[in-house]
Amino acid sequence: MHFDDFFKTELNKLHEAGNYRVFADLERKAGEFPRALRYREDGSAHEVTVWCSNDYLGMGQHPDVIGAMHSAIDSNGTGAGGTRNISGTNHHHVVLEKELADLHGKEAALIFSSGYVSNWAALGTLLAKIPNVICYTDALNHASMIEGIRHSRCEKRIFRHNDQKHLEKLMAQDDPNTPKLVAFESVYSMDGDIAPIEAICDVADQFGALKYIDEVHAVGMYGPRGGGVAEREGIMQRLDVIEGTLGKAFGVMGGYITGSKELIDFVRSFASGFIFSTALPPAIAAGACASIRHLKENREISDLHKEKVCQVRAALDARGIPHMPNPSHIVPVMVGNAAKCKWISDIMLDEYGIYVQPINYPTVPVGTERLRITPTPYHSAEDIAHLAASLCDLWSQCALARQVA
Ligand SMILES: *Cc1c(COP(=O)(O)O)cnc(C)c1O
Repeated sequence: MHFDDFFKTELNKLHEAGNYRVFADLERKAGEFPRALRYREDGSAHEVTVWCSNDYLGMGQHPDVIGAMHSAIDSNGTGAGGTRNISGTNHHHVVLEKELADLHGKEAALIFSSGYVSNWAALGTLLAKIPNVICYTDALNHASMIEGIRHSRCEKRIFRHNDQKHLEKLMAQDDPNTPKLVAFESVYSMDGDIAPIEAICDVADQFGALKYIDEVHAVGMYGPRGGGVAEREGIMQRLDVIEGTLGKAFGVMGGYITGSKELIDFVRSFASGFIFSTALPPAIAAGACASIRHLKENREISDLHKEKVCQVRAALDARGIPHMPNPSHIVPVMVGNAAKCKWISDIMLDEYGIYVQPINYPTVPVGTERLRITPTPYHSAEDIAHLAASLCDLWSQCALARQVA
């Protein structure tokens, strides 16, 4: 077989379908967030304003976080030096896990190299090991949860997105004596909608199910201490597992689960993706810990963030740029056409100094192609005005429909 020919043919299919991904070559500038340098192929660079970062609160450049990482590198060096079991457990990991357990009001926490790995390993392990367990999974769950569920080879039922009635119907059809697990998210990344957590817990409890929530897009952001939507709603204790990332609002990297000490010890003891992988660098753990601590105490940033989100929505409304209404910080600007979506994003980057990645199929359904805008507390009034004016220009050039407010 000519392997490269095969790879090329497959890649060409992506090109033809308009699904080929091109990365923007960016250099983030600490102290100037959300500004970055963007490198062109010829090596030249220009300044852009990033409008699609998941570093929602700019914590990736916060002095506390940078300071904690510098100091941990100076005192502990770079890598962890092993898996957690074999010489890799550093005091910073232990401290971080205590911090996370406290954040979610749980007995224990376990950190992983990423949020993806945490979902994959935790769901993969729980669902493979609990005898005959059935998994009920929201139709729009993240790829990392889907892969974990698939890896476990357990029985699964997919319930309609955020539809607790459908969940109830599916659960009622199964043997009441079979162990069950319900897996869902709080804030869904692409539409920015939020799950009816309490209603889902009510249904799950009726059937004695384990409740697993991914709060990746909510931790650091919602709740009186940044514990997520479940914290805001005062129902963290109703969830058996709260999973999160250290790579989005906390601005560093890594993932985690929190739960009872038995559950966490179980995953720690049986999850291959945890056991056989080198621990996070101590400096990463120290940075994440500083970020969590800062956000626990300092919630003004979250209020400022909400204000900016409102300002962006108002600026879009003033120009009739359609965006999906939702109760979160994610502003999906609806283009509804893959080619136009990519074209607008390219021109914004090249000519307007605005970076917002197009979101096309298969990430979202055909016909709902969009620009997923994530305002941060550090976007200025001028940034917002420039974003809205640029979109307004391009909306006309693409002959896209406007929405009358
Ligand atoms: C990004 C994401 C993850 C994975 O987290 P990482 O730390 O980036 O690996 C998990 N769940 C959801 C819903 C996500 O959007």
